[in-house]
Amino acid sequence: MNKFYDVIIIGGGTAGCATAYIAGKLGLKVLLIEKGIHLGGTMTSGLVVPVMKSGNHQINTDFYNILVEEMHKVGGQVTYQDNSGWFNPELMKIVLDKMMKDVSVDVRYNAEVKDVKTEGKYVLSLETNKEILSVYNEEVDTDNISLKKYKPLSVYIEAKYFVDATGNCDFSNNINCKFLEMKSEYQPMSLRFLMSGIDIEKFGKWLLEKDTDRNVTTVENIDGVTHLSTAYTWDTDKQWALAPFFDKAVKEGLLKDSDRNYFQVFTVAGMPTTLAFNCPRIPENLNPNLVKDTSKALIEGREAIYRLSLFCKKYFPGFENAYISNIADFLGVRVSNRLKGKYVYTIDDLKSGKKFEHPALISNYPVDVHNKSKNTSTLEQTGEYQLPIESLMSYDYDNLFVVGRGISADYMAQGALRVQASCFSMGEAVAKYIKNQLS
Ligand SMILES: Cc1cc2nc3c(=O)[nH]c(=O)nc-3n(C[C@H](O)[C@H](O)[C@H](O)COP(=O)(O)OP(=O)(O)OC[C@H]3O[C@@H](n4cnc5c(N)ncnc54)[C@H](O)[C@@H]3O)c2cc1C
Repeated sequence: MNKFYDVIIIGGGTAGCATAYIAGKLGLKVLLIEKGIHLGGTMTSGLVVPVMKSGNHQINTDFYNILVEEMHKVGGQVTYQDNSGWFNPELMKIVLDKMMKDVSVDVRYNAEVKDVKTEGKYVLSLETNKEILSVYNEEVDTDNISLKKYKPLSVYIEAKYFVDATGNCDFSNNINCKFLEMKSEYQPMSLRFLMSGIDIEKFGKWLLEKDTDRNVTTVENIDGVTHLSTAYTWDTDKQWALAPFFDKAVKEGLLKDSDRNYFQVFTVAGMPTTLAFNCPRIPENLNPNLVKDTSKALIEGREAIYRLSLFCKKYFPGFENAYISNIADFLGVRVSNRLKGKYVYTIDDLKSGKKFEHPALISNYPVDVHNKSKNTSTLEQTGEYQLPIESLMSYDYDNLFVVGRGISADYMAQGALRVQASCFSMGEAVAKYIKNQLS
């Protein structure tokens, strides 16, 4: 038995949601398959908020603008320091469900792809591990009425186009697509978390006193609520206001030396006593494709979260009654598999601002490549650059696209392109491209 879609998107995260929503809005028949139990991916499961700004000339921003509007309606968005991406990850789960419903996208949770049929340069159909289409299985004859049995029914779902939005290119991996080479040194993974019960106003006042040259600290009152952001790393490119506190905590054994490698906090819209932590960054050379390594990262990450929470409570005014309120459901992976596309985008393309006939996105987000060792990360501001749609097209299959962090770009270029704003534009560009092809 077959069921037919215009496009099937595998992975309901940052880029997959943009693809599905815009495709639905353009009138396409869309199926979105997500292995978790809610949408948003790194933004919700990974607690990666806020969304960073990516320049003033972005294209394919319809999804983002509608997301901002919808999040604002439910009190889950504020504009902080001119950045409208100050989101609430819990409310985002509700908003993304509503948005998909608004444009009639069929969303199926808890589902993964079991098998795929291909022919030559085309992906034809896929089968999922669970029955996801409300197709009832035939009853098997049995004398025992209370023990009704059903024949396993294999349903292949056909589509004209397929979009791999799994972040790690899981779908493409299953059909033996070609990949770009992976570095033997991986970017460190992070496990993000939230702390609540914080007196943010008190902490903000204290930060402003300490960070007198305002290196990294900003504080802003929005509609009577204090919002703030600050950071510290063990890199020596800045005078970090928080450095003496970290140094002291390491000396007394409350923190490990490696806990100083990266620390960043942001307030969260609609959570007036909460801070989102962009750390700990796990300081080891761990492979995001190996379960052994990701398990180690998760365990070490949670241990570090506990240490950091004790540290904040001891050293930061405003944290007296604070507690860990959420630890991310999944590890923050900055880079893993990258699909070989019809065009392999390079760091030279990015730095030279090379122009393309069909740009999927325009951005000026810096090249942001993390490293586990001191003073070796890259954060390099460049001019405006474009990514061509061909870097989102599979080299192997003519009706397969990839969106999100697994795109066809070299290691350094991916360090700039993986941010959320760019993932949204990629998803939207692919949805519009498919619509055009079908018109
Ligand atoms: C620690 C960290 C901090 C970051 N900080 C920022 C920041 O401050 N600002 C910023 O803009 N960007 C930031 N980024 C980058 C950005 O968040 C990510 O690169 C981006 O969100 C990745 O989007 P994606 O769509 O590729 O993947 P995801 O958002 O992770 O979505 C993938 C989705 O696919 C699902 N999935 C996976 N496998 C399967 C499968 N086999 N079948 C079905 N579903 C599947 C997952 O459950 C998930 O929902 C950060 C990244 C990390 C890791």
